[in-house]
Amino acid sequence: MAFEGIRRIVVAGGSLAGYSAVSELLAADYAGELLWVTGEKQGSYSKPALSKEFIQGKSEYSELFLPEIPDARGNLRVLRDARLSALDAAARTVQLEDGRSVEFDGLVICTGAVARMPAITRGMAGVLGLRTLEDAQAIKAELVGKPRIAILGGGLIGCELAASMRSFGLEITLIEGAPTLLGRTFGAVLGEYVLDMHQRNGVNVMTGATIEELVARDGRVAAARLSDRSVIETDLVLVGAGSVPATGWLEGSGLKLADGVVCDATLASSHAGIYAAGDVARWHNPFYDTQMRVEHWTSASAQGRAAARNLLRSFPGATEAPVPFADIPYFWSDQYGLKLQMVGRHDGHDRVEMHETADRALPLLTFHKQDQLVAAAGVNASRAVMRYRKQIEDDAKSRQRVAEPC
Ligand SMILES: Cc1cc2nc3c(=O)[nH]c(=O)nc-3n(C[C@H](O)[C@H](O)[C@H](O)COP(=O)(O)OP(=O)(O)OC[C@H]3O[C@@H](n4cnc5c(N)ncnc54)[C@H](O)[C@@H]3O)c2cc1C
Repeated sequence: MAFEGIRRIVVAGGSLAGYSAVSELLAADYAGELLWVTGEKQGSYSKPALSKEFIQGKSEYSELFLPEIPDARGNLRVLRDARLSALDAAARTVQLEDGRSVEFDGLVICTGAVARMPAITRGMAGVLGLRTLEDAQAIKAELVGKPRIAILGGGLIGCELAASMRSFGLEITLIEGAPTLLGRTFGAVLGEYVLDMHQRNGVNVMTGATIEELVARDGRVAAARLSDRSVIETDLVLVGAGSVPATGWLEGSGLKLADGVVCDATLASSHAGIYAAGDVARWHNPFYDTQMRVEHWTSASAQGRAAARNLLRSFPGATEAPVPFADIPYFWSDQYGLKLQMVGRHDGHDRVEMHETADRALPLLTFHKQDQLVAAAGVNASRAVMRYRKQIEDDAKSRQRVAEPC
């Protein structure tokens, strides 16, 4: 492929989507300058391990890092511990936090998301969120004193943290506003299963409750007052209240933003030559004919590669046109030695079917909408869940309409 008119491509973000975009650009023999502004102190690392093996002490710090990307042409320039503070989409320049301005011909935005910290949790010692390696290290450091822990939020991060903390035998209270745990993610039936699983493993789960106030003693959190007026004495509060796309640096850039960088089906943003990938991208998924933002490991990897390829294809001289990125979301979670998995999207389903598994105690479910299979989820049922994936994709293709650029 000839890459005419591309002197410099900037990739913003040094986690999985950025890593995948950079790998793909180099693999495609892109020979112009490739500037990778990672925002990371060190290399790119695996986030899923943070709330699981790493925090449990089952994997070492060095095992977290993704392999170095081969740079055969020597055209990759990595800016570590540097961040972008602004973009001018029309002028095609980005600004670094140190004030330097950099022109580009192509940009792939992979700045991901940051942990959502509700106002009551901000600025108090002993209250921590989990999104980065530094966050995980800070939490690990707190565990030495065997604290009593209150976890705010029974989503993926909250549940994984609860399971990991129980592996140390710590006293855990998990506070979730919904009636079950992970119900929004896995649906009501599996939500009940997850709730029961945590209770059986000794977590004090408080559903239908939220933290209204955190009380400090000697400058550090000491108690949480809940919406039902009960008070929990605690030494550490961990926050699993979701995440928000990291688009602060893009305010005023001219790019269309709406809970992420708004992209068409090819992951192109509202400005030519600027693509987005991973947790920060809200793109038109042709399989669902709708805009969505997905915070899953496999999507970030596939989107990073797809956005890089499509960016190259968008320049004059490219032999192929950009290709829509159609994706069936998939994610997993590990808790108490069990693997929970889901493929597809269950929202709007009108029927759930329960299936027999080899281990009858473990659930395997399929979700249906107007006689089409839209999602499958199971516990320790990897093969079965993945088998359903093919049918989910076939049904999605049959529904698929040509995506309109946004
Ligand atoms: C604790 C944890 C556990 C998880 N477990 C699972 C799991 O079991 N299964 C699953 O499917 N998914 C899981 N995920 C989700 C998965 O890790 C994410 O979907 C994935 O990390 C998204 O990658 P990303 O590159 O899009 O964004 P991120 O990982 O959020 O990375 C964003 C990158 O952008 C950089 N950055 C941000 N702002 C700037 C800036 N202004 N300038 C330059 N760089 C910037 C950051 O430094 C970072 O390198 C988990 C996530 C977390 C946090």
